[in-house]
Amino acid sequence: EGELGEPQPGLIVAHFGVTTDVETQDGRVTRCHKRSNLPALVTGDRVIWQEDSQGSGVIVACEDRTSLLSRPDVRGQLRPVAANIDRIIIVCAPAPRTPVNLIDRYLVAAAHHGIRPILVLNKSDCLEQAPDMAREMEEYRDLGYEVHTLSAQTEAGMAEIRTLLAAGNSVFVGQSGVGKSSIIAALLPEEEIRVASISESTGKGRHTTTTARLYHIPGGGNLIDSPGIREFGLWHIEPEDLFQAFPELSNLSGHCKFRDCSHENEPGCAVRDAVESGRILERRYRSFLAIRDSLDEVAMRELL
Ligand code: GDP
Ligand code: ZN
Repeated sequence: EGELGEPQPGLIVAHFGVTTDVETQDGRVTRCHKRSNLPALVTGDRVIWQEDSQGSGVIVACEDRTSLLSRPDVRGQLRPVAANIDRIIIVCAPAPRTPVNLIDRYLVAAAHHGIRPILVLNKSDCLEQAPDMAREMEEYRDLGYEVHTLSAQTEAGMAEIRTLLAAGNSVFVGQSGVGKSSIIAALLPEEEIRVASISESTGKGRHTTTTARLYHIPGGGNLIDSPGIREFGLWHIEPEDLFQAFPELSNLSGHCKFRDCSHENEPGCAVRDAVESGRILERRYRSFLAIRDSLDEVAMRELL
C-alpha cells in the first residue's frame, strides 16, 4: 500500500467484484479496494477511503446503511446489490398492461426492504389501451401510496418526476416493456449512460454487466440502476412484510373470531366480511392470498 493520504468521505458509484469506484464530493472517481475486515460493499455505500501512492485507494470504513437491496445469486445465497436506497419507483403501464397482482408483489418486496414505494403509471399517452388502470391507480392512492402519471414519450409529467427524484437515491423497477429505459434516458444526459456502458465493457469479470451503477440526475438526486435491480422481486419475504403492504387487511386481522384465522373459509372472518361488504377490494384480497401461497412455496424451496 505504501504511504496513504488523508482519510476522506466518498460514495460508491459502481462495484465490480472486489474493486469499487469511489466518488468524492468534487466528482472525482477513484478505483478502490477495501480492507478485508469490511463487509461486501455495494453501489450507494458511503465510505471513508484513503488514496495510495499509485493513484488508487483503500476503503477503510463504511457508514451504516439506511437500506440494502439484496437478491439471491445462482446458489440461492442472498447478495447485496445496492445500499441507501430511499425510494423504489414501481413503473406500470397500460401496454404491456401491468397486472395489479404484480404491483402488489412489488409493494410487498418494498415493505420487506423497508424502502418507500412510489407508483408511476407510464405511457399516459395510451391509457385508452387499459381504461381501468386510472381507477386502479386511484385505489392505490386511497390506500396511502404516492402515485404519479407520466409519458416518457411526450414527456408529460416528467417535471413532476424530476422533482420527486431530486433528493436521495432512487431505483426503477417494473416488468419489461413498461418504459424504464425510456424514463431513465429522459432523465440522464446521454453521455453519462454512454460512459457507464464503456467502463462496464472494459471492466474485468463476468459480473460486470449486472453491476449496479449510481448516476447523478442533473436536476438533483441519484439513480441507481442495473439489470438485477430492475428484476427486483419477492425474495425472503416474511409474513409481516405481506401485512405491511396490505394495510387495509392487516387493520382487521385481530378482529376475526379465530386468532389463527387464515381469512379463507373460517366463520366470523372480519377480512372476508369486509370483502363481501365492499370495504376491501376483492382483487386486493385475492392478491393477498396468492402472494401468501407463493411465499409458502418460496419457503419450501429454501428448506430443500
Ligand atoms: P423497459 O423494458 O421497461 O426498459 O421499457 P423501454 O423503455 O424499453 O420501453 C418499451 C417500449 O415502450 C419502447 O418501444 C418505448 O419507446 C415505449 N415507450 C416507453 N415509454 C413510453 C410512453 O410513455 N408512451 C408510449 N406510447 N410508448 C412508450
Ligand atoms: Zn379472518
